[in-house]
Amino acid sequence: MPDEKVILITGSSRGIGAGLAANFARKGLKVVINYSRSEAEADRLYKALSEMVGRENLLKAQADVSDRKQVQAMFDLAVERFRRVDALINNAGINIDGPFLDMTDEQWSGVIDTNLTGTFICSQEFAIRFRGDPERTGHIVNIGAATGLRGRKNGANYCASKAGVILLTQCLALELAPQIRVNCVIPGYIDTDEIRTRYNLSQSQNYERVIGTIPMGRLGTADDLFKVIDFIINGSEYITGQNFPVNGGHFMP
Ligand code: NDP
Repeated sequence: MPDEKVILITGSSRGIGAGLAANFARKGLKVVINYSRSEAEADRLYKALSEMVGRENLLKAQADVSDRKQVQAMFDLAVERFRRVDALINNAGINIDGPFLDMTDEQWSGVIDTNLTGTFICSQEFAIRFRGDPERTGHIVNIGAATGLRGRKNGANYCASKAGVILLTQCLALELAPQIRVNCVIPGYIDTDEIRTRYNLSQSQNYERVIGTIPMGRLGTADDLFKVIDFIINGSEYITGQNFPVNGGHFMP
C-alpha cells in the first residue's frame, strides 16, 4: 500500500535533500521538491523522479526558506496541488566558514537566516495550516549537525545556527504537541558534493583520515538518514522533541 502522505523537503535540489526526496517518492509519498537557486538540479531530479513515480506525485517549488513571502507562496502552491502537507523536513542549509575575528555581519546573518530563521519560518507556515483541524496530525523533522552540540573552529555562524535548530526542535515539540511531532536528525559525515569538496576527499589521505574517525568505517548516505526519518514519521507514535544522531559512531553525544 503506498503511503499517501505529502512531504515537503526544503533544499531538495541536491545533496541529502535530493536523496530523501527520491526515497520518499519511491515509498509512494507525494513530494514537494524545494530549491532556491539550483533550478537545473531541481529540474533534473524532478524529471528523473517523474519517470519513476509520475508527475502527479511531485511538485517543484522555488522558495528561499528565509523569505516569508516565498515560503507562504510555496505552501499555498503545495496545498492547492495536494490539499495538505503532512510532513516537513527542514533540510536547507549552507556553510560560510571563516575565522571568528574576520567574520562579517553578512557571513553571520547569511548562515543564520537560511539555517535557523528558515527553519523557524517554514515550521510556522507548516504548523499554521493545521489550525482548525484538531484531528490532523503531522511531523516536522529538522536537520541539525553534531557541530551544533560541540562547536568547531571557523564555524561560529554555522554551529550557532545548528545549536539554535536543536533547541528550536524542543520548543516546537512542546508547543505543537500532540498534533505535530517535532524531532531533529543530526547527521555525521554524509556523502555529498558539499562534504567531498569541503574536506577535499578526492585526496586519498584526507579520505582515510576522515574514515579513520568513523567507527562504522564509511561515510553516511542519504539512505541512512531516510531510514531514521521514515521510522520517526511512519514507525513511531510516541517520540517528540528528540535528537537522532546518524553518524556511524563518529560522535557520541
Ligand atoms: P548541499 O549543499 O549539498 O545542499 C543544500 C541544499 O539546500 C541545496 O538543495 C540548496 O539548494 C538548498 N538551499 C540552500 N540555501 C537555501 C535557501 N535559502 N532556501 C532554500 N533552499 C536552500 O548540503 P547537504 O545536502 O550536505 O546538507 C543538507 C543539510 O544537512 C544541511 O542543513 C546541512 O547543514 C546538514 N548537514 C549535512 C552534513 C553532511 O555531511 N553533508 C552533516 C551535518 C549536517 P539551492 O542550491 O537551490 O539553494
